[in-house]
Amino acid sequence: MTAALIKTFLDSFCEENERDFSVVLSKRSPRQLKGKYVIRKKLIVLYPKSSENPFDLEQTALHELAHHLCWKRNEAQLLALRHQGKRLPRHGREFKDIYYDLLAALDWRHEETSEPFPSRQTPEEKLFFAIFRNSSSPCETVIGRKAK
Ligand SMILES: [Zn+2]
Repeated sequence: MTAALIKTFLDSFCEENERDFSVVLSKRSPRQLKGKYVIRKKLIVLYPKSSENPFDLEQTALHELAHHLCWKRNEAQLLALRHQGKRLPRHGREFKDIYYDLLAALDWRHEETSEPFPSRQTPEEKLFFAIFRNSSSPCETVIGRKAK
C-alpha cells in the first residue's frame, strides 16, 4: 500500500477544492495511534501495521479524511471559536456527520467490488477492462497464430 494510492482513493471522496491535503505513511506509531490529521499542514498520517487488514486501513484513512473535511467545511466557525479560546469537540457532531457519510459511500462501493481501496473506475470502465482483460472474452482477437 502506498501513500499515493491512498491519496487517490481519498481524493475520490472529495470535491475538487477539498483535495488540498497530503498523505504519508509512517512506521513509528506513537501511543498505538492508527492515524492522525495535522490541521496546520493539512496532512494525514497513517500508521499501517503489516498485520493490519486493508479494510481497517481504509477506514482509518477515511476517519482522518473526515477530520480534514470537517476542518475545510467549518473553517470560519472553528477559527472564530479558537479566537475565543474554545474548540469544537474533535469527534463531535460535525465530524460524525461527515464520517458516516464517507462510510456510507464506502459501503456503496463495496457493493460493486469486494476489494479494499477500490479504484475510481466508473462501472462502464470496469466493464470495459473486464472484457478486454479476460482471455475467454467472446470478442478476443487472436493475431498471428498459424494454422498447423
Ligand atoms: Zn479522529
